[in-house]
Amino acid sequence: MTKGMVADIQRASVHDGPGIRTTVFLKGCPLHCAWCHNPECIEFGPQTMYYPEKCIGCGLCHQGCFSGAKVVCGKEMSVEDVLRQVLLDRDYYGEEGGVTISGGEPFAQKAFLNDLIDACKAEEIHCAVETSMIVYDEEILKKLDLVMADLKIWDNDLHRKYTGVENTKIKEHIERLNQLGIPMIVRTPVIPEIDQQIDQISSFLSGLKNVKQYELLPYHPLGEAKREALRLAAESFTIPSAEYMREMEKYVFIR
Ligand code: SF4
Ligand code: SF4
Repeated sequence: MTKGMVADIQRASVHDGPGIRTTVFLKGCPLHCAWCHNPECIEFGPQTMYYPEKCIGCGLCHQGCFSGAKVVCGKEMSVEDVLRQVLLDRDYYGEEGGVTISGGEPFAQKAFLNDLIDACKAEEIHCAVETSMIVYDEEILKKLDLVMADLKIWDNDLHRKYTGVENTKIKEHIERLNQLGIPMIVRTPVIPEIDQQIDQISSFLSGLKNVKQYELLPYHPLGEAKREALRLAAESFTIPSAEYMREMEKYVFIR
């Protein structure tokens, strides 16, 4: 029975792929994006998050916190445990919806990811992943119905500066995945402080026939409060204005 470290399972999700989906967030990611919206998914093990504004000072931490001030993120679950959750909403998935395995980087827990996909496919559930494409595992990728991949910054040095890793492999993996014929949605989180060269990214993607959509996602500061709760240094970025997004959208050729 394969077990994995799960950060969260969100039901009725409408932002993690087509239709209504259950999103399974796995812990562990080899990247360290400065703007990460899920910083609680970067470390592999369980972590305690502390929200002081919710603390009522009861002094009963040893019994478990009932006010939501101290929350442990990360729970070991078996494939069967997760599948049970996924099946709860099967009636709502319809033809488009299903399960999205996200993170963190889902390929960082390869064996668990593989077995979870197998279990969902055995139940004929549409399977998608959200991935940084830092890992390329053809055997697993081939089983998927959809890959939602990030290409965050075009310039290699800037990519390394803001994510901790180079992007040469990521670009190569996106090209290889295109050859496999799995439908892809590629996404870029838009951060006005960084010269991401969205025109270059878009031009690269327009030559790949299995990229069905290129999406620009405005930076969201959701991760900042979570970073504080994890006692990590928080880096602030600007939420792009509607005008800035419109400017960037001009470069998007695939919709
Ligand atoms: S149990 Fe929760 S609310 Fe009570 S002191 Fe501990 S952190 Fe604060
Ligand atoms: S790849 Fe995703 S989960 Fe990993 S650090 Fe970047 S934003 Fe966070």
